[in-house]
Amino acid sequence: MVAQHIEVDVAVVGAGSAGAAAAGMLAGTGRAVALLESRPFARAGARWQNGVPAWMFERAGLPPPAGAELVRPGEPWVMLGPFGQARTALPTSILQVDVGRLNDRLLAEARRAGARCVEGAELVEVDLGPDGRPRTAGFALAPWPGGRLEVRARLFLDATGRAGALRTRLPAWAAAAPPRPEEVCLAAQEVRAVTDAVAARAFLERLGLEPGVEASRLGLAGGFSVSTVRVAPDLGSVALLAGTDGREAGGRVLLERLRAAEPWIGPRLRGGEGAIDLRRPCANLAVPGAALLGEAGRLVFPLHASGTGAGLVSARLLAEALDSSPDPGAAEVAWRYQATVQCSLGGVHAAYDVLRRLIAALAPPEVERLIASGLLTPGLVTAGLEQRLPGPGALEPWRQVRGLPRLLGSPELARALATRLPRMALALAVHRAYPERPDEAALGRWARAEARLLDWD
Ligand SMILES: Cc1cc2nc3c(=O)[nH]c(=O)nc-3n(C[C@H](O)[C@H](O)[C@H](O)COP(=O)(O)OP(=O)(O)OC[C@H]3O[C@@H](n4cnc5c(N)ncnc54)[C@H](O)[C@@H]3O)c2cc1C
Repeated sequence: MVAQHIEVDVAVVGAGSAGAAAAGMLAGTGRAVALLESRPFARAGARWQNGVPAWMFERAGLPPPAGAELVRPGEPWVMLGPFGQARTALPTSILQVDVGRLNDRLLAEARRAGARCVEGAELVEVDLGPDGRPRTAGFALAPWPGGRLEVRARLFLDATGRAGALRTRLPAWAAAAPPRPEEVCLAAQEVRAVTDAVAARAFLERLGLEPGVEASRLGLAGGFSVSTVRVAPDLGSVALLAGTDGREAGGRVLLERLRAAEPWIGPRLRGGEGAIDLRRPCANLAVPGAALLGEAGRLVFPLHASGTGAGLVSARLLAEALDSSPDPGAAEVAWRYQATVQCSLGGVHAAYDVLRRLIAALAPPEVERLIASGLLTPGLVTAGLEQRLPGPGALEPWRQVRGLPRLLGSPELARALATRLPRMALALAVHRAYPERPDEAALGRWARAEARLLDWD
């Protein structure tokens, strides 16, 4: 067996967008950083198009995507009910990003900043020191069968996405339950050729859409399901995105059904699929010597299973928490990071998780009725798309008052809205009360209170 050893300040495991961004940010401050990825770098992280709000690049302190990385800037978006009758049209500022190219840029930046980048290195074991902190991690080196890399670091970052390769090996998280089927989004995203432009135009006309407009049909396969179509302005290709929660068939099957119904949707040009954990962020996102970034910490905006922006922002929040601390793995650093994330991203995610569960419980006719009611004002929908809290003007009380009678035909829906929506504010308040200083007993009380207040249905 060939064994290599390296010693660094920070070892980042996983070179998706969260890990590659963190490696660049931390190496840029002069820390010795290693970025370790199980796949070849050219295939690391998501390799499809993701919608990311522009503000999240700004908050992460990263230049926004440009050139080929920016598939398209914010464009009009149409939200349709499951039966296609109810609709809301909105401008959006969501950037459509080629995440593969984004990952490549972040990796190049990490290299430029001096991070040691190792591909084909899969985390297989973690060794804890006498103080319970991770001390070394063992990696199998794919390019050399039997090859082994041992990494010693003062801080290990788990940026391995849903796999949570480090998290699941550490006592603080090892006992966590896996998600239930309704807590997982099965998503598929593809770009396909259009083989019959006339049929594609007829499809758009049936839905009252223009080429170049993205339209999402919600609730077609249960409340938490979406099928999104955007035919390119030149009618040459179509971008598709679909997802359901794990109780339903999944995005791949929705796309297959759509293709069967619309034969003008031709061969696949590119795309990908995967499962996304929709649960609120892990209650503890860091312990001395280890922290969770991006999807590894369940930092995913639950309403539409978006994790790219939150991963980038979490990398910045971690870099800020480390600042000039002499020991990057110190308990104070861990706490500063998790308290900041929980009070900002965590509170927003928890609030929208309430809405996600409300919507997931609706049958298709109720989804249609909710959209038709106008209660989801443009301001509210835009805030949800942009992963923000709605501003004070978003409620538009007149629209709400006009919409209320339309709910009378659906007492179930009215009851769900009346009982659950106030819990969005509660979720924010709970997250603002996250313990500020290292105190495991206080964290345990907080986690129990969070579950008690937010988890009843
Ligand atoms: C079809 C689909 C569409 C999506 N659309 C959107 C969208 O529009 N907007 C959005 O924001 N999000 C979207 N998402 C979610 C988004 O892609 C993820 O949340 C995001 O990629 C998570 O980034 P990450 O860096 O945390 O993890 P990942 O991108 O999962 O990267 C993790 C990396 O860790 C590596 N790794 C895993 N195990 C190990 C190990 N043992 N050792 C070393 N390395 C390891 C993996 O190879 C991978 O490169 C979508 C997801 C899917 C599946």
